[in-house]
Amino acid sequence: MRALVTGAAGFIGSHLSEALLQRGDQVVAIDNLATGSLRNLSAVRSWPAFRFIQADVCDSQALERLCDPPFDVIFHLAAAVGVRTILDHPLASLNTNLRGTENALAAAAPGSTLIVASTSEVYGKNESGPLSEQADRILGAGELARWWYAVAKMADEALALASHREGKVKALVVRLFNTVGPRQTGRYGMVLPNLVRQALAGEPLTVYGDGEQTRCFTYVEDTVKAMIALAESPASPGLIFNIGQSTEISINALARRVLELTGSRSKIVHVSYQEAYGDSYEDMRRRVPDCSLLERTIGFMPTNRLDEAIRAVAAEIQARGEGECASA
Ligand code: UDP
Repeated sequence: MRALVTGAAGFIGSHLSEALLQRGDQVVAIDNLATGSLRNLSAVRSWPAFRFIQADVCDSQALERLCDPPFDVIFHLAAAVGVRTILDHPLASLNTNLRGTENALAAAAPGSTLIVASTSEVYGKNESGPLSEQADRILGAGELARWWYAVAKMADEALALASHREGKVKALVVRLFNTVGPRQTGRYGMVLPNLVRQALAGEPLTVYGDGEQTRCFTYVEDTVKAMIALAESPASPGLIFNIGQSTEISINALARRVLELTGSRSKIVHVSYQEAYGDSYEDMRRRVPDCSLLERTIGFMPTNRLDEAIRAVAAEIQARGEGECASA
């Protein structure tokens, strides 16, 4: 297929672009390089079926020009991501996440399939157990900036589904659950690259709160495999899909596993949320996906590959020479 990937120089976008090219698809990749990096695309930049364009999804005209002739599939991943980004730059993040999706939907042709990347953040404080796509979304107080990312993504989801319902484009939504793997940067607050870097550098591993909050970490290779399969499924447009795996791990246990697999002798320290993020933060204790709809639709569901992810992230950091004190 002929695919457009927005946010292609980012963590997930670069893995997705690679996976599409390896299948023989043609990929036009756009990114404004605000948080993405061309280094993430170095393996594919010279491929004849690949074209990179530095552009911003907030530039509606650039997107419209790009979408003529229309793409078979548009993967809309460009967004301001990470708790840190949202807390530090709330207005710019909201603008990017709302306008970018609006523009992508407006530029897409009716025959195109458009996949909007959303997030498990939209479930907010619904900690009731495996969350199906039908689960209630429970957000905290309106003044807490932490929830504004979820607010924007909820609006994006509604825009996508409404555009689909009104026949504008074949749109579907994917809610990604804590995707991890190489190329994810810890700069915007994500826990796994932070802990691995700290372990390799011999620094204390910073676990926020009491560390008993749990997450389900999903290997990026599985995430992009599911996204591509959904893009090809005639049953997926108009729907929302969780993409994740359901083995939970507490952040305390994650930190211990990082120490084991890297052979690091670093200590684990607990840092208060207030110290880590300031006042505008509230955490969720638990977030587990129910991916049965995904499995019924594409015959595949991600599995627990956390050890593989930790090893791959550690190998990448060591290759960049950032883990100076690694002992194993
Ligand atoms: N976290 C942590 N140490 C860090 C970064 C994050 O303990 O250096 C915690 C964070 O408070 C949350 C969990 O790890 O409870 C996952 O954080 P992340 O930002 O990766 O994802 P999300 O909060 O969106 O699930």
